[in-house]
Amino acid sequence: MTEGATRREFLGAALAAPAILGGCARPDDWRTRVDGRWIGDNAQLGHRVRDMAANPPAGARERRCDVLVVGSGIAGLSAARTLHAAGITDFAVLELEADAGGNSRGHAMRGLPCPLGAHYLPLPGPAAPDIQAWLVEIGLAKQTATGLKWDERHLCHSPQERLFFEGRWQDGLLPNVARASSTQAQYRRFAKLIADTGRLGFALPTARAPWTPAHEQLDRLTAAQWLLANGIADPLLLAYLDYCCRDDYGAGAATVSAWALAHYFASRHGFSAPGDDTDDRDPVLTWPDGNAPLAQALRRPYADRVFTGRAVFRIDEGLNDITAWAFAGAEVERWSAKHVIVATPLFIAAHVLRAPPPALVATARQQRRAPWMVANLRLDDLPLDRVGAPLSWDNVIHGSPSLGYVDAQHQSLGRVVGPRLITAYWAFPDTARKRLLEMSWQDATQLILDDLRVVHPDLSERLQQVDIVRHGHAMSIPTPGLRSSAALAAVPGSAARVSFAHADLSAYSVFEEAFTHGATAGRRVARALGHAPV
Ligand SMILES: Cc1cc2nc3c(=O)[nH]c(=O)nc-3n(C[C@H](O)[C@H](O)[C@H](O)COP(=O)(O)OP(=O)(O)OC[C@H]3O[C@@H](n4cnc5c(N)ncnc54)[C@H](O)[C@@H]3O)c2cc1C
Repeated sequence: MTEGATRREFLGAALAAPAILGGCARPDDWRTRVDGRWIGDNAQLGHRVRDMAANPPAGARERRCDVLVVGSGIAGLSAARTLHAAGITDFAVLELEADAGGNSRGHAMRGLPCPLGAHYLPLPGPAAPDIQAWLVEIGLAKQTATGLKWDERHLCHSPQERLFFEGRWQDGLLPNVARASSTQAQYRRFAKLIADTGRLGFALPTARAPWTPAHEQLDRLTAAQWLLANGIADPLLLAYLDYCCRDDYGAGAATVSAWALAHYFASRHGFSAPGDDTDDRDPVLTWPDGNAPLAQALRRPYADRVFTGRAVFRIDEGLNDITAWAFAGAEVERWSAKHVIVATPLFIAAHVLRAPPPALVATARQQRRAPWMVANLRLDDLPLDRVGAPLSWDNVIHGSPSLGYVDAQHQSLGRVVGPRLITAYWAFPDTARKRLLEMSWQDATQLILDDLRVVHPDLSERLQQVDIVRHGHAMSIPTPGLRSSAALAAVPGSAARVSFAHADLSAYSVFEEAFTHGATAGRRVARALGHAPV
């Protein structure tokens, strides 16, 4: 499979000259009429952290606490929760952005909530008892004699997914083909490959799965090499699998490892050919503003200890205390703590630590990161739609360089009238990061409109406002060799009084991994401070 070449070149060209995607450079009146802006990630402050790490200024305001958590993504907030549960109350969480939640933050456009990043959580299975227990604690599920009973209001309503394929919308994301076709035979072949490979053991979170030489073998190949070696060559199936990789890992099958592709299916619902008995759709929890309610629920009990607008730019391990310097608006704060949990991406951790452990430095060098763009489009009404399956929660266009869009109002209980809000997702090759960061809001909007015009011809006429976030370094790509790297495995125990908590420690990013690494780091610190970990 050549994800690589074609898609990368296409996306690269699209970033350079967005109008080519639509095949015409027709000036459109949306530019004079539509509101919008870049929102969310503060790349400027992030880059200031990079530039100031070596030179902490004098004259900082002194603050102190027992445990300092740097970063308030799901991992940092989960660490705070674990500290609190272990009886540690003197902690502070410092967050660079104006809001807590990291990649799981939400947004609103004239009162309509929408996501800035993560938008769903698959129902956690028995391998994730901590997450199940927390979801019960916050009222999303009840423990019954027969197992967990989920609050239906937050389970993704039907119809869940549709694909625009051969000129019409179809139900589900895998192209529907004739039962006797060679594509269907390949679907079955892949289902068997996943069932066989799944016997090696896969779980979410990954910490609950075994790691054997056979897993390591899988991690040496790209997903594309593994598929080829196993006789999977059908273009429709390959396009679907490439989409799955881009959607979860930010990079296609030619870039991520075979372990990552196998894990995608084998840790959840497996894979079955359409028409075969099993329903392989994930029941998922979702909200109009994506996973933001999960981040808010994690933060709520300790909201007074989460300090936003604090960009930590240097951490020094001294003989007694650990010192962290942070920009706090116009002033600089100098925090002292007995222990620090660094819950930022690992490349930032390697940067801000004055003496980063070698394992951290090696991992930060090895880890490639996918840039993402998330665009929220407010429309005055539903746009014209192509024939076939009705508007669903997730709407994907076969062959598109984007990841499609999510209907932010899908979970509404009543009939939606008036303005609509859809969220378009794009993952870019890491080589396109600079161009993405330099792109104008107008060109980004044009890129999105050109992509969606094929299914909604009057989209630009319906458009009122477009708020777009760029996550320049959104997530670690699970490239071959990363998950099995000895350096990555060594990071959590590589410093005595500094712990690390971030989805990066799993080589890829989802809620379950972030939550688990936060809890693990919180327990480590609780033990170090003489508290019984929970
Ligand atoms: C577009 C997108 C869509 C996604 N969709 C899903 C989804 O649907 N479901 C899912 O499970 N996962 C999804 N993910 C993955 C998502 O990353 C994880 O679910 C999770 O939110 C990661 O949490 P984290 O704590 O590991 O990292 P992050 O979210 O990266 O948190 C790190 C935090 O550290 C802060 N920080 C960084 N540097 C500093 C500093 N110097 N000082 C202070 N603070 C700092 C950051 O601002 C951030 O808040 C998505 C990710 C993206 C980008």
